[in-house]
Amino acid sequence: MSLNDVLGFENSSGLYASTPKEDFLNHAWQDKNSIIRIEQLEAVVRDKIAPAALSEIRDGLKKVGMSIRLNPYIMELIDWRNVETDPIRRQFLPMISELEADHPCMSVDSLEERNTSPAPNLVHRYPDKVLFLVTSVCPVYCQYCTRSYAVGQDTPSLQKDNVTSANGWAAALDYIRSTPTIEDVVVSGGDIARLKPQNIKVLGNALLDIEHVRRIRFATKSVSVQPMKFLSDDAWFSAIAEVAKRGRDMFKSVFVHTHFNHPREVTPLVEKAMRRLFAESIYVRNQAVLLRGVNDDSKTLIELTKKLGRVNIQPYYVYSCDMVMGTEHFRVSIEEMQHLEREVRGATAGFNTPLFIVDAPGGGGKRDVHSYEYRNDKYGVTGYRSPSVDRNRMYFHFDPLRTLDAEARAEWRAPGGREAILERLRLAKPIPVAAE
Ligand code: SF4
Repeated sequence: MSLNDVLGFENSSGLYASTPKEDFLNHAWQDKNSIIRIEQLEAVVRDKIAPAALSEIRDGLKKVGMSIRLNPYIMELIDWRNVETDPIRRQFLPMISELEADHPCMSVDSLEERNTSPAPNLVHRYPDKVLFLVTSVCPVYCQYCTRSYAVGQDTPSLQKDNVTSANGWAAALDYIRSTPTIEDVVVSGGDIARLKPQNIKVLGNALLDIEHVRRIRFATKSVSVQPMKFLSDDAWFSAIAEVAKRGRDMFKSVFVHTHFNHPREVTPLVEKAMRRLFAESIYVRNQAVLLRGVNDDSKTLIELTKKLGRVNIQPYYVYSCDMVMGTEHFRVSIEEMQHLEREVRGATAGFNTPLFIVDAPGGGGKRDVHSYEYRNDKYGVTGYRSPSVDRNRMYFHFDPLRTLDAEARAEWRAPGGREAILERLRLAKPIPVAAE
């Protein structure tokens, strides 16, 4: 089996063509040979791309706050001959010319996760659900990461918050134990691919032992970016399988949530990993992010949806890219997102069709893209209500500046422009919502 067979990508770059297949298909070899510095990247791709493109990436990396980590598997998936437009490269390596100045309403933690944290490493927003941040590291780092404030290593432009390790979980577990409304725990970070098997068992079993916890979701991008993790790391796979089996025996659900954005990521190796998960009755849901230049066209999204369905991954969500600083070039407008939703719905069975979701800035939680109750087209402002979070508040999303007319763009960018626009639209304070 050649690398092309593994990747299902006929013109794979061949960067690792001389690597023995057993090494390439080993998760530890992938981790060990991951690229975390620009010098390593340069050494590997120097002969494959034009010096100008390399210099674009070098300058892009100097500017952004997110760390880089690319394993050889992802490096092979990138089409280096067309690196400027390649949708895989764009997710992990910024080019300086594609970056855009942030909308003035962007922030470091746009979902305000740190304001709804009742215990270290825990986010509690919806009545019956918590987000448990168990690690700050991932097998790869995505440039649009919502949690760039905490995930990855410190970079010159962003000093990361310190997310937990196993010995920092006690307070969060105590909070979950003492809060009977919590039924659903999302175990995320970072990525559980970086947890030791023993810690997956300790954490999974501790959560299953809490009677009111009915559902656990393990979040890992490794299905998409390191599928060999499920095939060569037997101890890690067995830890997940053991927790899932115990959950089933207790009539509780333990699912895996993952993150594919482009159909090219659904490779033959992903299918192999999914066959192993499926055989253990471990079900997988996908949460894609709508990213300009990656998947913001209906053909790509429909192909992604159908390819995920074929390997038994449920295409659960397509999220709007959060309003996190440094991601303006990835964002699309609400109108465009609505258009894409209409194109995708009906292309396949309804249960396999993703919901298009805006995670409302300010902590409103997940809202259907079509469900807004306030809209100002000129300034690209969309308001969502979220009664289960705060009945008296409206949460606002702001379209990327590039999608507005020149006058509105200039107003947003002018000194004091943000405050003036918010004041004029009477958004400086939450809009009072009529009592129901
Ligand atoms: S894998 Fe998830 S948590 Fe990690 S960098 Fe990517 S989006 Fe962020």
